[in-house]
Amino acid sequence: MHFIDEVKIYAKGGDGGNGCVSFRREANVPFGGPNGGDGGRGGNVIIRAIPGLNTLIDYRYKQHFKAQTGEHGKGKDRYGVSSDDMVLQVPVGTQIFAEDGETLVADMMEVGQEIIIARGGKGGLGNIHFKSSINRAPRKATTGEAGDECWVWMRLKLLSDAGLVGLPNAGKSTFLSRVTRAKPKIANYPFTTLKPQLGVAYIDDHEFVIADIPGLIEGAHEGVGLGIRFLKHIERCGVIIHLVDGFAEDVVHSYETVRHELLSYSELLEGKVEVVVLNKCDLLSDEEIASKKAALETISGAKVFIGSTATGTGLEEVLRELYRHIVLFREKENLPTTPMVYDPFSEIEYNKAKNSQRWDNED
Ligand code: GDP
Ligand code: MG
Repeated sequence: MHFIDEVKIYAKGGDGGNGCVSFRREANVPFGGPNGGDGGRGGNVIIRAIPGLNTLIDYRYKQHFKAQTGEHGKGKDRYGVSSDDMVLQVPVGTQIFAEDGETLVADMMEVGQEIIIARGGKGGLGNIHFKSSINRAPRKATTGEAGDECWVWMRLKLLSDAGLVGLPNAGKSTFLSRVTRAKPKIANYPFTTLKPQLGVAYIDDHEFVIADIPGLIEGAHEGVGLGIRFLKHIERCGVIIHLVDGFAEDVVHSYETVRHELLSYSELLEGKVEVVVLNKCDLLSDEEIASKKAALETISGAKVFIGSTATGTGLEEVLRELYRHIVLFREKENLPTTPMVYDPFSEIEYNKAKNSQRWDNED
């Protein structure tokens, strides 16, 4: 099961710079000829596929991209400088669709692949081009062409790296909202009543996708097919995060209930790495934490992390551990592993946008 991240963006190529009207002025030449240069070309807006990105999340915060106008021509035969192209970086695998949302414009399958989505306008002609035998002092120049503009859709199949499981009330939703700063928009998701919540977690300059799969346990118990379909998704995750409500009397029983559901669905899940977190530790005494942690370690046979999704304690280590396993998984599955250090826009503008806008994908 794939989720689809999609965004719609506006792109405008830079307008061409205007041609210039200017005449030679020298002390001993009374009527100098025209010397107005051409305008420079406006920048193109280009989409480029780069490695190491997993989502289109950055385009949640900024959707308008305008390349710069070309420089205007100047006197003394000086041509305006063409503007640099504006490059929008996207993950490999992104598909570009026209504004109708259906016409495929490009499939960005390879690293470095590029497509110009909005061409910059040509620069206008300076008056040096309009000199003729009849008109030796043309006052004519042309303005630069307007840059192309368009709306395009970008879509990406999203693989979630980490699947979040736990009994109802374990703190899954709280965990997701605390460790993820951004929510992809999930398009075309077939189950509308019970939809998985996706979030992008950031740790040490890396991003990865976490999915809170509702209805896993709830759905499975009710014999609803949904639980099963969501379980199918967990099979594809690189790692499972299993939250156990530390406030529960019998944490071992809670743990086993979830494991039982997972394993009765698929043996594949048996081999999947699981990071167990004893949650709600803010409510527990040190002794309780120690004994519950020890009990869970015995039953799970692995290190158990302690944390509180309410206060945030311990969550960084959990994310780091998840990321470590995700990298191993991606290597094994031949998925891109390059670390993400990426900022398609200027830092300030990006942060400003980030703070001012939140994607509302909540129920
Ligand atoms: P979910 O059913 O697994 O998604 O659980 P929720 O995230 O909805 O949390 C269930 C309840 O537990 C909510 O009332 C949360 O406020 C509370 N909760 C979640 N995490 C913590 C925690 O670390 N400490 C405390 N004290 N309460 C928590
Ligand atoms: Mg929930």
